[in-house]
Amino acid sequence: MSRRLTRLAEIPVTELAGVGPKKAEGLASVGITTVLDLLMHYPRRYLDRTNEARIGDAPLGEESMVLGIVRKVQSRRTRNRRTIVQIDVSDGSGYLRCTFFNQPWRERQLTEGANAVFYGKVEMFQGRKQMTNPVVDLIGDRTGRIVPIYPQSDKAQLTTWEIGGWVEEALRRAGTFEDPVPEALLDRFDLVDRDKAMHGIHLPESAAQHAAARRRLVFDELLRIQVALVRRKRDLEQTSVGIAHVVGGALVPEFHAHLPFPLTGAQRRTIAEIDADLARPTPMHRLLQGDVGAGKTIVAVSALLTAVQGGHQGALMAPTEVLAEQHHAGIRTLLDGLTLKDDNLFGERPVRVELLTNRTTASMRTKLAAALLAGEVDIVVGTHALLEDKVAFHSLGVAVIDEQHRFGVEQRAALRSKGEIVPDVLVMTATPIPRTAAMTVYGDLDVSVLDELPPGRTPITTTWARGPLDEAAAWARVRDEIAAGHQAYVVCPLIEESDKLEVRSAEETFAELQGGELAGLRLALLHGRMKSAEKEQAMEAFRGGRLDVLVATTVIEVGVDVANATVMVILDADRFGIAQLHQLRGRVGRGAAVSWCFLLAKGETPESEARLSALERSTDGFELAEIDLDLRGEGTIMGARQKGRNDLRLASLRRDRDWVARAREVAFELVDADPTMASHPALAEEIDLLLGPDDEDLAEAPDRTDYLFKS
Ligand code: ADP
Ligand code: MG
Repeated sequence: MSRRLTRLAEIPVTELAGVGPKKAEGLASVGITTVLDLLMHYPRRYLDRTNEARIGDAPLGEESMVLGIVRKVQSRRTRNRRTIVQIDVSDGSGYLRCTFFNQPWRERQLTEGANAVFYGKVEMFQGRKQMTNPVVDLIGDRTGRIVPIYPQSDKAQLTTWEIGGWVEEALRRAGTFEDPVPEALLDRFDLVDRDKAMHGIHLPESAAQHAAARRRLVFDELLRIQVALVRRKRDLEQTSVGIAHVVGGALVPEFHAHLPFPLTGAQRRTIAEIDADLARPTPMHRLLQGDVGAGKTIVAVSALLTAVQGGHQGALMAPTEVLAEQHHAGIRTLLDGLTLKDDNLFGERPVRVELLTNRTTASMRTKLAAALLAGEVDIVVGTHALLEDKVAFHSLGVAVIDEQHRFGVEQRAALRSKGEIVPDVLVMTATPIPRTAAMTVYGDLDVSVLDELPPGRTPITTTWARGPLDEAAAWARVRDEIAAGHQAYVVCPLIEESDKLEVRSAEETFAELQGGELAGLRLALLHGRMKSAEKEQAMEAFRGGRLDVLVATTVIEVGVDVANATVMVILDADRFGIAQLHQLRGRVGRGAAVSWCFLLAKGETPESEARLSALERSTDGFELAEIDLDLRGEGTIMGARQKGRNDLRLASLRRDRDWVARAREVAFELVDADPTMASHPALAEEIDLLLGPDDEDLAEAPDRTDYLFKS
């Protein structure tokens, strides 16, 4: 009988010979309770014994892999209290001495009679072959040409050969695995069947067999995620009734004609993509990715106006009050002079744009709520305040959510539910993420990319200031720019652990600069714990040019737009992640003048060094996002989802990027041909099992781009 994964998930590991209560406890501590868990506990690496050398033949001065039995163990201490463990190993062809410095635990690990593999450079010392600090794998009495090495844990007291033994038993007793993927698909992509794959990943007989097994299991992992996401996407589209907006009216072209600049090619393309969505009766659910300064606002306003033109309303939700106010002011300016045909009135009236935040007074709110309900307000800009129950629309047609990473899926849903009829939703983010990651993290959305900056931007020169001399040069540049009539930002050290500490450190930085490098200039402090009115006052003064320097915490990260600011100094820059530094830097270089960004940091780890030099080298957000993914791995991307077993175990969004796209394509084929997946019960079942029913884990991940902000 062929086995489904769901069936194996019902069999506890204790069913296996040799797994008693003690071992079961150990296994449970690493998340293995069922036979399926065990079988999805894939080897960390493999030991290819065809590369094995006999001790007698191992060439001197070269790296070798030697398998032998531990014959003698000695341990001593040097005068300066360092431990030296010496192990004598034999394999019948000769003796090898392995010397470990400062690894006292080797004495416990490598006991007499143990079978182990040693990798290292073979040298001759005092007349005998020896390795210094070799890499060691204990392999027990496992045989076979290729020996899997499982992730093991000292604490759980599990060895790779025990796990290997149980896996073998489980594979033997599981029988043949049922294949949940149709054969035609396996043929198309030249994939081995599930049964071969499970055997090939645990007990490969050749490198080729292992590679084929991995390919297949990678495909399975990605396919499960994509099917779950695509089903969610289709469900949303099919279960909700949206508005088929009338596109192609006069209002949007008029708006574009009003602008002091032509649209970029990317803006025209994305507006067309959005228009196509708006025209359809199913609600839009689209992500607009675009680097800072790419001109997302124009795209968003175009979508809002399409709704307005058809007699509906638009809402734009921003993550902070400062941003909402800025958008409100910006959009009012953009729409200044634009009129709307109004049948009830005298023919024409201006487009009415209002603001709703927590700062809006109670009486104003009441008035605004009434006007929204009556349909007298065309576009409302606001914060979370828009989500309150009291806020109801006459007919919400398009909702734009700016800076997605501050909002969760729930809030998106809340805004969607503001209308009887589901509005079209556009989510904008200035945090570029790589394409394959976008398909995986935002696989339930359509994605548009604004990948072209408006012309005439002067690139920002970024310098990583590593020492006092560089720092002095940075402050000198700040003073020069201010002398030339420009303005500057200083970003204070990020202290993730505590808001309070961060504020204190910002205050210290402010005092230091005022009394030192920036003495005599007009400085103001801006941080998250200030009252909104104070914050606004500081921002207003900076915008109006009455301040030279804004010393701020990351509250300035998103959306602050002062074109006259041409220099930014980021203190302790290695505390920030690539994406956040890129965001911060985007606050300068917004005008025509040459701009500068100084990253003050020592760069103490190779990783922080790589991050800082990447920022020096590139100003392309998408390129930086790829580098970030390379540096930090996809574990971080899926971070928010690492709740259960639903993780990507073998698949890598970098290494397997082509497979991400293929899996997505297949998922669309399968779901569109058979929305309930009735003809693929095994696949549907294992998706439920591994990703959770109704795809909840995916839906609940609160901040899906949050990963980009942890360094
Ligand atoms: P984003 O929100 O993508 O960071 P914005 O929409 O705030 O970018 O636009 C950044 C700046 O670029 C604004 O000052 C805007 O007026 C300007 N801008 C937008 N589109 C164009 C364009 N096609 N040509 C020139 N300037 C543009
Ligand atoms: Mg913006």
